[in-house]
Amino acid sequence: MKYICTRNRMESVEASQAIAQGISASGGLFVPEELPKISHAELCAMQTMDYPQLAQHILAKFLTDFTPEEIKECTEAAYRADKFSGGHPAPLVMLQNGDITQYALELWHGPTCAFKDMALQILPHLLVKSLAKTTPGKTAVILVATSGDTGKAALEGFKDVDGTRVLVFYPQNGVSPMQKRQMVTQEGGNVGVCAIEGNFDDAQTAVKGIFTDSVMQQTLAQHNMMFSSANSINWGRLLPQIVYYFSAYCQLMNSGEIDYEGEKVNFVVPTGNFGNILAAYYAMKMGLPVNRLICASNENNVLTDFIRTGTYNRCRPFHTTISPSMDILVSSNLERLLFDVTGNDAEKVAGWMRQLNETGSYTVDAETLARIQSVFYAGCCDDAATCQTIRKMKETENYLCDTHSAVAFAVYHEYVAETGDKDTPTVVVSTASPYKFAASVLQALGSDLYAQDGVNDEFEHVYQLSALTGTEVPEPIRALAGKAVRFEDVSSVADMRQAVLRLAGLA
Ligand SMILES: *Cc1c(COP(=O)(O)O)cnc(C)c1O
Repeated sequence: MKYICTRNRMESVEASQAIAQGISASGGLFVPEELPKISHAELCAMQTMDYPQLAQHILAKFLTDFTPEEIKECTEAAYRADKFSGGHPAPLVMLQNGDITQYALELWHGPTCAFKDMALQILPHLLVKSLAKTTPGKTAVILVATSGDTGKAALEGFKDVDGTRVLVFYPQNGVSPMQKRQMVTQEGGNVGVCAIEGNFDDAQTAVKGIFTDSVMQQTLAQHNMMFSSANSINWGRLLPQIVYYFSAYCQLMNSGEIDYEGEKVNFVVPTGNFGNILAAYYAMKMGLPVNRLICASNENNVLTDFIRTGTYNRCRPFHTTISPSMDILVSSNLERLLFDVTGNDAEKVAGWMRQLNETGSYTVDAETLARIQSVFYAGCCDDAATCQTIRKMKETENYLCDTHSAVAFAVYHEYVAETGDKDTPTVVVSTASPYKFAASVLQALGSDLYAQDGVNDEFEHVYQLSALTGTEVPEPIRALAGKAVRFEDVSSVADMRQAVLRLAGLA
């Protein structure tokens, strides 16, 4: 199967090339030329597969220049039961309240307690094999600028993977104390972490500059190294996310929730860069029975407006919210959806992306909007509603959710009220452990412990949340308390090139 570019019809590459390269030469994104189809019989056969087997089955349809053994090595290494608390990487939890049944698909049982693990546990293996096929013998230096979750998930995924080094830059004052603690205590012989005097955008812009700097590229080449990327526009990060939508449906079939062949379900996805929900869309196009995909945003509701009106406009105030991983105004992966709903019209997509770049907005035509609206419903909520929902979910369902998942529950409840659709089985995608955002969750629950003076260490909120709710602190977070700080470097933006060379062992 070939991969084509969303902005240029002429570019066509193999899967390994798409993964090794990350982004296409014309600045567009790689997508499969055609989506493989999965029949009902095949779906039934998936019911008895464990998660690594299911992942292997689905990935094999897309990675046609990988051998079955290569794919198996990747899925088994990534989704080993001992890497995910409870053993299942994507357990489905039933929440029953009166006549409404909702399911939570918990994607945060991995090593960093956020759903980024689902892709970043496997990407390093896919990338190493892709590089071996395209540029054998080189060490890949993965540069990451992070606002929190991605940095830690990349460090944990690439830790001690042969043939890679991973270097993470985070804004000195722009991540939560727990997120910082997770990164500066990172173990592994091939990892580096550095704080940046600046905000996330400064770090991101500088990383992009280093990536394309020919002097830096030459220096790396002299040492048989090359830059590579693990960010969410890489096809190797999107593909693994398709798997858990099939897994969720299989779990619904196994539990007897699916009453007849082809019964459709809703998925509600807390959305930032549009990667997670796009994977659900691809699963639907492959044949998974889906009624609606519900796109949930926080106060940065650029996608809500787009899906409701057809106009994407990033010229608006940026809000810092209690669901920071969704604080984003340019959702890169939306480009892939536009490409699909226009019937692979690269010229149209390139035109919209140019407008977005030049003017900050674009408006799609009526037909494109109608196609999007036939699948997607969109809603948003502010921090106050997020907190109310955390409290409500705890009180009525005895279910503790994090701030991002709460946005999804809130929008689902709004969807039911607006459409009256309370019968379609619905899966709410839960993207982070509440313990990753313990201070906000405690506050939402109305705990006066939160306001107590003298709370000066990030673990205090974690222990308080556990005591208040009687739930267990995830082991990866508990274990951080005993880990030594390994990385205390702070760099100015201007000195980041030096930091990269130092962390890569070249200076
Ligand atoms: C990254 C992230 C999201 C947003 O996912 P996208 O694929 O960017 O839409 C939501 N919740 C959490 C906890 C995240 O880390």
